[in-house]
Amino acid sequence: MGYRMTRAALHALGTARSEDEEIVAVVENDACGIDAVQFLSGCTFGKGNLIFLDYGKPVYTFYSRHSGEGVRVAWRTDARPKDAGRDRTEIVEWILQAPEAQVLAKRSVHIEAPDRAVIRASVVCEECGEQVMETRTRRVGNRSLCIPCWRNYGGAASEGDSS
Ligand SMILES: [Zn+2]
Repeated sequence: MGYRMTRAALHALGTARSEDEEIVAVVENDACGIDAVQFLSGCTFGKGNLIFLDYGKPVYTFYSRHSGEGVRVAWRTDARPKDAGRDRTEIVEWILQAPEAQVLAKRSVHIEAPDRAVIRASVVCEECGEQVMETRTRRVGNRSLCIPCWRNYGGAASEGDSS
C-alpha cells in the first residue's frame, strides 16, 4: 500500500526522490507503509521532511517546495474485491497489480508550505549527563533535566509529551 501510494504521489508531482528537503510528506498513520514513503520519496524522520499526524488513516500528502504543489493520496476502503485472494501472497500481488484508480483516491491539494527542519541546540541533562535537545528539557528546581530524569522527580507524563 505504501509503495503504491508513494509512487502515485511522486508521479503526480512529477518528481523523483527528495535529495534535500524539496519534498515533504505528511503521513496520517505510522504503519509499515511509512517505510515505503521514506525509502521511495526520501522523506525521512532523520531529514525532518516527514511529518507524522496521528490520525490512524492510510492517507499521505506530499508537497513539493519547487512547484508549491501538493497531492493527497488515500487508500480506498472499498479497494479489494472479494475474489482478490485470501492468502498474504495473493493479496500483496493484487495490491501491486491493481489499477491505480481502483486502489487510490488521489487529488491535488493546496497546503501551506511546512516549516523547514530546524536544527535545535543540544544541552546536557544535569542528572544523567546525556545530551538532550534544549527544547525537550524540563526544570527541576534550578536544574535542566531530560524528560526521563524529570519523570523520576515526579514530572507528569502528559506534560512531558506535550511540547
Ligand atoms: Zn537525564
